Amino acid sequence: MEGASSFETAPQSPPEEDFERTLRPKDFSEFLGQNGVLEPLSLMVRAAQEREETSEHILFTGLPGLGKTSLALALAQELGAPLKMTSGPALNKSRDLVGILSQIEPGTLLFIDEIHRIPRDVEEYLYGAMDRFQLEWTLDSGPHARLLKLDIQPFTLVGATTREALLSPPFRSRFGHAFRFEPYPAHELEQILERSASLLKVALTPEACAGLAQHARGTPRIANRLLRRARDVAQVETNGPIDASVVERTYQLLDIDSLGLERTDRKILHALVLAAGQPLGLKNLAVAIDEAEDTLEEVFEPWLIREGFLARTPQGRVILPLGRDALGLAPLPEGDSAS
Ligand code: ADP
Repeated sequence: MEGASSFETAPQSPPEEDFERTLRPKDFSEFLGQNGVLEPLSLMVRAAQEREETSEHILFTGLPGLGKTSLALALAQELGAPLKMTSGPALNKSRDLVGILSQIEPGTLLFIDEIHRIPRDVEEYLYGAMDRFQLEWTLDSGPHARLLKLDIQPFTLVGATTREALLSPPFRSRFGHAFRFEPYPAHELEQILERSASLLKVALTPEACAGLAQHARGTPRIANRLLRRARDVAQVETNGPIDASVVERTYQLLDIDSLGLERTDRKILHALVLAAGQPLGLKNLAVAIDEAEDTLEEVFEPWLIREGFLARTPQGRVILPLGRDALGLAPLPEGDSAS
């Protein structure tokens, strides 16, 4: 089981990465749910194949763990395209980008994760590559300045981001298609869990499957992580299938309560209570719970907001009556600003 760190933010250990890789859908048929993205994407692939053209550049947006990387990999498989994967933070210098783009094969699907983290000057190199499959850069300055051009092979850029708003408008406009990933409904998470259990060759009862989907926050990555923990419990404690009692025991060990709140969620709600009705800004709240601002915004808040435990207001974050209730606190008197 995890140590002191929160279940959701525990760093991915190498076995955890292997585990994710094992469960990754290989093609569109294995990518379950998320039809709002899958259907238009399949249509686009068919149209591009019929026209024998390289597909337009694509942007995937959505919270972490919803399947952006998995779908990009499945897309390369469907297109029969060579795949090159990198990430915004890895493209720190323009030469990192030039190194990749100058060597790609025709029709390559270039996947850039966390694309909002590409530095602005590197991003500008991408414009010519995306528009005309050409890299352009200026050598020297003043009267000796020369514009160099390098043709590159046609490619499709698939960018993934959790923060679409951080993309500059000129960059954003170069993607022919943008698809937004939404949290999965419980029945889709159950299908994903059944597939994962069968790949892992573990027995999972329907009740246990529903129980795991219930606290997976609409996120396949969390569903699979919970399944992994439940598998450990079943193996060590009962040596039987993952059933409802194993799931219950797993939640107990992970300190996840009956509402699905884990330790960090409760810390967030407590910090808001301690602010005595004053809205807390992102920075202050992050300091109060000792988490990075990005993690707070991308990992914890979306679910707490969806479930009605807290709200973002122009003044800052406030706890809602359901949040107080979850902590076992009495409702605030009518008319109080924090309720
Ligand atoms: P993201 O790139 O959005 O952070 P990933 O693609 O890495 O998310 O997905 C995390 C894990 O969740 C993957 O390893 C995969 O096993 C699983 N997963 C995500 N989406 C699906 C899906 N639609 N069907 C099956 N498994 C999925």
